[in-house]
Amino acid sequence: MFENVLKGKTAVVTGSNSGIGLGIARELAAAGADVVLNSFTNDEADHKLAADMASEFGVDVRYIQADMSKADECRALIEKAGSCDILVNNAGIQHVAPIPEFPVDKWDAIIAINMSSAFHCTAAALPEMQKKGWGRVINIASAHGLTASPYKSAYVAAKHGVVGLTKVTALEEAGKGITCNAICPGYVLTPIVEKQIPDQMKTHNMSREDVIKNVMLARQPSGEFATVEQMGGTAVFLASDAAAQITGTTISVDGGWTAL
Ligand code: NAD
Repeated sequence: MFENVLKGKTAVVTGSNSGIGLGIARELAAAGADVVLNSFTNDEADHKLAADMASEFGVDVRYIQADMSKADECRALIEKAGSCDILVNNAGIQHVAPIPEFPVDKWDAIIAINMSSAFHCTAAALPEMQKKGWGRVINIASAHGLTASPYKSAYVAAKHGVVGLTKVTALEEAGKGITCNAICPGYVLTPIVEKQIPDQMKTHNMSREDVIKNVMLARQPSGEFATVEQMGGTAVFLASDAAAQITGTTISVDGGWTAL
């Protein structure tokens, strides 16, 4: 249905050398978009990922290193991309601890990478979108942008902030051919989630299987992880003309979590 719908568009996906960002980048490429991949590393594997994706989908794919915890590097990423019709603000990290013990450096990093980078990249990308009269800003928030869990203060605050930023961006750009929406995933089995499993096993004194079933997916009524391909498909839909009047809202892809 979406084959070639994004031909001629360039998509910049922050934090896209793994997990959801990579899944979204792949679906955008499959729909015909040229893609800029990003992370803070500059490894041979990052550039190989781009080259392999380019030959798999027959589109232009580049990898640009930029640290999304730094305002100037966020803005430089958009400048180096040259063109950015579709911006996917996806980079994110997690840390879990009670508020009194929450390390200040972790708080600062989560706010910077998960929230402020979306502001900086959006600010840098909007002027060109305004000139073209077409643009899509897709923010990867979370079920934690709409609801909370204990011990995730920085993450929940940042993701609620991203949902707020999404609404403001949409209102400022309404009627200019530019939309801004947030995708709110539930649990997707990516490295960010994989890393939480050992801590949760310790905290709850449970096996891996029990943590997945009784802790992580306890709030996901479907009892299943969402997938990176489903996030990608949602992003392609939001970038398509079918979604031209969808703006300033959140789309939950969370197996029913936020319906509870
Ligand atoms: P992941 O750890 O697989 O991917 C995170 C990506 O961000 C990686 O590519 C990493 O290299 C990049 N990144 C981290 N710090 C960076 C920095 N300083 N500069 C540039 N890039 C950086 O995790 P994921 O699950 O794919 O998460 C992607 C997004 O989806 C995050 O914003 C996360 O909060 C959100 N999310 C994930 C889930 C889930 O269950 N996996 C659920 C809801 C929301």
